[in-house]
Amino acid sequence: MKRILVTGGAGFLGSHLCERLLAEGNEVLCLDNFFTGSKQNIAHLASKPYFEIIRHDITFPLYVEVDQIYNLACPASPVHYQHDPVQTTKTSVHGAINMLGLAKRLNARILQASTSEVYGDPEIHPQPEEYWGKVNPIGIRSCYDEGKRCAETLFFDYYRQHNLDIKVVRIFNTYGPRMHPHDGRVVSNFIVQALKGENISIYGDGEQTRSFCYVDDLVDAMIRMMATPAGITGPINIGNPGEFTMLELAEKVIALTGSSSQLIFCPLPSDDPRQRKPDITLAKKELNWHPAVNLEDGLTQTIAYFRKLLSEA
Ligand code: NAD
Ligand code: UDP
Repeated sequence: MKRILVTGGAGFLGSHLCERLLAEGNEVLCLDNFFTGSKQNIAHLASKPYFEIIRHDITFPLYVEVDQIYNLACPASPVHYQHDPVQTTKTSVHGAINMLGLAKRLNARILQASTSEVYGDPEIHPQPEEYWGKVNPIGIRSCYDEGKRCAETLFFDYYRQHNLDIKVVRIFNTYGPRMHPHDGRVVSNFIVQALKGENISIYGDGEQTRSFCYVDDLVDAMIRMMATPAGITGPINIGNPGEFTMLELAEKVIALTGSSSQLIFCPLPSDDPRQRKPDITLAKKELNWHPAVNLEDGLTQTIAYFRKLLSEA
């Protein structure tokens, strides 16, 4: 049995990861400041004897004893990370320094939840890990993009300077049950709008693309990455290479919900990437992993979750 710290454990991805790690027989310390996460996401785990909840902000140092750390704490939706951009950068940068310092003291293995946003508005398609990205350093997405880039830098400097056992995964858009209904991300927005019979908000012309990975596939890849031998550091892209325009996504959501919602076109937020699709050659090779859940099946599960959530509200 390992003692594992999951920062951001009460968030969307973190709660699924805690659930899987517990099911595999580990002791889990779930740390969160509950900015975007909720106790509801982990309520079903609270009574388990090997599950512990710590209310803490990772921009402050932390003293616990663990074998492994998954560092997920950071708001991930543009609406939430732009709400307090200074705190977003602090969470990525000070948070990484604090968690890396903890890992160094404990000689623990540490995994960073990085993001496809490190590629910015990419000129290379699909994006391989060698691509350095095209990121605006002073725009409204920069607090998140540059914060995550700096966190990667810190991880690799701790690796080179202190020989720390690091793992970095670059996560592409991931969706599923327990997404926040009002966090403004496209999958949750479209599903909630469709279920309420409201207009579906397409930003820009809707021709921009994203690749959507179902949460179970993502968690599987993160756990596989953590289990790789020391020296396999990444960064490794994790995502589903299926690529869809936002118009295609809206059509699928309307069809699967049976909604009569109409599309409305809204202004495109600045620096919104035109296209995004992971090259997962490395993940296939190093992790023996590929996504198993297609968009229709994943959306069906996610729609069922939101239908229940809205019926209880
Ligand atoms: P989320 O907002 O649901 O989860 C983030 C969690 O971190 C929340 O529970 C929040 O309360 C917590 N948190 C935020 N700041 C904190 C702080 N300073 N101290 C302690 N806790 C804090 O988002 P998510 O989708 O679950 O994302 C989890 C991680 O994965 C993030 O680091 C995100 O950047 C990364 N990621 C997610 C996606 C995606 O599509 N979901 C894509 C790329 C990267
Ligand atoms: N988007 C949209 N309607 C919405 C929310 C988002 O058309 O209601 C678009 C957004 O402009 C972007 C894409 O969907 O092009 C994905 O947005 P999201 O915020 O989910 O993720 P990110 O931009 O960080 O990849």
